[in-house]
Amino acid sequence: MDYPGNLFVVAAPSGAGKSSLVKALLELDSHVQPSVSHTTRPPRGQERHGREYFFTSEQEFDAMVAGNGFIEWAHVHGRRYGTSRKSIEERIGQGADVILEIDFQGAMQVKEAFSNAVLIFILPPSWEELRSRLERRGEDAPDVIELRLKNAAIEMAQAEKFDFVIINELFERALFDMKTVVHAQRLKYAAQRRARADTFESLNIV
Ligand code: GDP
Ligand code: ADP
Ligand code: 5GP
Repeated sequence: MDYPGNLFVVAAPSGAGKSSLVKALLELDSHVQPSVSHTTRPPRGQERHGREYFFTSEQEFDAMVAGNGFIEWAHVHGRRYGTSRKSIEERIGQGADVILEIDFQGAMQVKEAFSNAVLIFILPPSWEELRSRLERRGEDAPDVIELRLKNAAIEMAQAEKFDFVIINELFERALFDMKTVVHAQRLKYAAQRRARADTFESLNIV
């Protein structure tokens, strides 16, 4: 099925800067909308139901899986996370661009279901920098940081399956790269034909 809106999927090892980049993109581009995932993990600090996540019981999650309610779901760090089908299909169906910030297993499932989805992988500039960002963020205990670094090697080996790779060294440069990927999708023939129908018609392009 060809939807008028684009589906962007961003994945990265923890600490590469995925959340910071997506947040900055959303502030710059009001045509891009975030997706709110469902998760079975409990809320942290200031998190609110329906804003960061829909916090869901194991039973509710099972029911959504059984009812084909997710376009993808996966176990991440021992919990389940999933992207609801209904809200994504509605929004890209109406022509909005939706961005998913999910793990690489989920990204692969989205590509299977939506072959036009645009997969973007964020890499850190080096191991040293990845470690120091995780330490600076100050959200994780030392043993959790070691586990995330170990997982990062496995996750980064998947980067070749993505359409685009952005190296988040200078933040502004990486943000510019992400804007460029989003913008390029909007210049595709089918997108321009839809968005600029008047121009095509006045030029007698049928
Ligand atoms: P390159 O720097 O040799 O790769 O040249 P490109 O032709 O790819 O990019 C043109 C220049 O525009 C680059 O230096 C970009 O960094 C810069 N540029 C345009 N918009 C932005 C922006 O929003 N942020 C940053 N950091 N650079 C931008
Ligand atoms: P992720 O969502 O991939 O786990 P975050 O967006 O939380 O990563 O970023 C991890 C930490 O690194 C945060 O403290 C963030 O402010 C910082 N950070 C992100 N991008 C850069 C960058 N280009 N240079 C320096 N620090 C960065
Ligand atoms: P956190 O619990 O720290 O917010 O997220 C942990 C991890 O789960 C991150 O790697 C994040 O990208 C991933 N994640 C968040 N939502 C989803 C989702 O809907 N599906 C999948 N597959 N992964 C998700």
